[in-house]
Amino acid sequence: MTQATADAIRSVVEEVLAQLGNGPVAAPSAHGAAAGNWGVFRTVDEAVVAATAAFEQLQEATMETRNKAINIVKHICDSQAEELGRLEFEETKIGKLEHKIAKLQIIKDVPGTEFLRTDAVTGDHGLTITEYAGFGVIGAITPVTHSLPTLAGNFVSMVSAGNTIVCNPHPSGAKIACEGVRRFNKAIYEATGLNNLVTIIGEPTLETAEQVFSHRGIKLLCVTGGPGVARAALASKKRAIVAGPGNPPVVVDETADIENAARSIVTGAAFDNNLLCIGEKEVFAVESIFDDLMQAVGRNGGYRLNADQVAQLTKLAFSPPKEAGGHWGLNRDFIGRDASWLAAQIGLNIPADTQIIYGETDTNNPFVPEEQMMPFIPFVRARNADHAIDLAVEFEHGFGHTAIIHSRNVRNMSKMGRRANSTLFVKNGPCSAGLGLGGEGYLSFSIATPTGEGVTNPLTFTRQRRCVMVDDLRII
Ligand code: NAD
Repeated sequence: MTQATADAIRSVVEEVLAQLGNGPVAAPSAHGAAAGNWGVFRTVDEAVVAATAAFEQLQEATMETRNKAINIVKHICDSQAEELGRLEFEETKIGKLEHKIAKLQIIKDVPGTEFLRTDAVTGDHGLTITEYAGFGVIGAITPVTHSLPTLAGNFVSMVSAGNTIVCNPHPSGAKIACEGVRRFNKAIYEATGLNNLVTIIGEPTLETAEQVFSHRGIKLLCVTGGPGVARAALASKKRAIVAGPGNPPVVVDETADIENAARSIVTGAAFDNNLLCIGEKEVFAVESIFDDLMQAVGRNGGYRLNADQVAQLTKLAFSPPKEAGGHWGLNRDFIGRDASWLAAQIGLNIPADTQIIYGETDTNNPFVPEEQMMPFIPFVRARNADHAIDLAVEFEHGFGHTAIIHSRNVRNMSKMGRRANSTLFVKNGPCSAGLGLGGEGYLSFSIATPTGEGVTNPLTFTRQRRCVMVDDLRII
């Protein structure tokens, strides 16, 4: 082939790649969806082509380069947390600005390639090693409650394991997710030459989500979201890691440190206005300490509603089920709003820094069975610890997500741990302790519940590959 022919071919290929958005194109556009721009694509097909090319590049790259890419994402999340957190808050209009920022700053705690390992067996017949390798392109579905943090956390886990990503974000958090993808890809390309390690659909819809579910170029799904998308992913023909919904119950028994229980419940439930899937959603407290606990919550940032006020709020926050035994309809305008905003809806003027509002209810109140995702917490009186545990198990609905107990009684702790059978079981602390924030262990924003992988980490996104050397390399 002559030099002129080779140059002509290269220029055609570059043009096609640029049209596909597969190469470094002009400077990223303003905050908003743009096709083929530093990883932002119009169609799932285009995104899969780019992510597949990136996977091939990543396979050839050194571990040092892979680490560089991961550290760039961690650094951007930390150093640009204020700006990105504000953009997420302005777009989604839910939660608290300070916690949008905090959720990005802690991406640096998500484990990376240090979690990978190699297993080895030696014997008379030589050496066998098991390596944990990437799958290829992973389809990631992310929630509106933590749009960029979930995407960034998924990036760290999935790329550490050697995968690349096509993300279909929640439409109401798509702009910030795209902005993150552009910034990650641009910085990674400039530092390493790798591009499109993460790609994203600029204007996601349910149709694009379905295309991700069924695309032949996508080897594995990781879905983080509520009941609808969890069901859809479980029904998909592709292997899916499903981080589904929760409705975390809290049990407080008569042996608990009441002040610590109250402080922990307020801290966990108030975080980002109770948007966390692990956040405390309803409390079952035994009769003998119930009133003390209610007072302690008031001392720790809670504002107590009386029965009339609870009834008024309930009427505004939920619509009755359409059929007997059905779900209450959640008023989405109330999700993730400040406690003082919720109080204002029922004519109450309370301090803007009130962490949660709370009140006594029975189990018929929809705040108990439904995942409300707002900082009103129902407290239900239980006869004793066994009764409280029974109620907690009933209202966790078998999601197997998160359950919490405040107790010094080992029997009660063990009983609840066994009965709740949840992925996270936290004792004597706020829910966040279950993700390494004030407790031991590592962080992830995708907690795989029905499919059982637990708090996801790089190994979650690997496939095992065995490599065998016969009769040699045994040195003992
Ligand atoms: P959501 O279910 O409304 O949306 C989640 C994602 O799924 C979005 O990208 C959405 O566009 C997509 N989606 C929704 N229905 C779909 C369908 N039928 N087919 C394909 N895609 C679909 O949830 P949300 O409001 O964004 O997030 C809150 C929910 O997510 C809560 O239930 C919470 O418990 C859960 N969550 C779980 C975890 C976890 O780690 N287990 C983490 C965060 C949030």
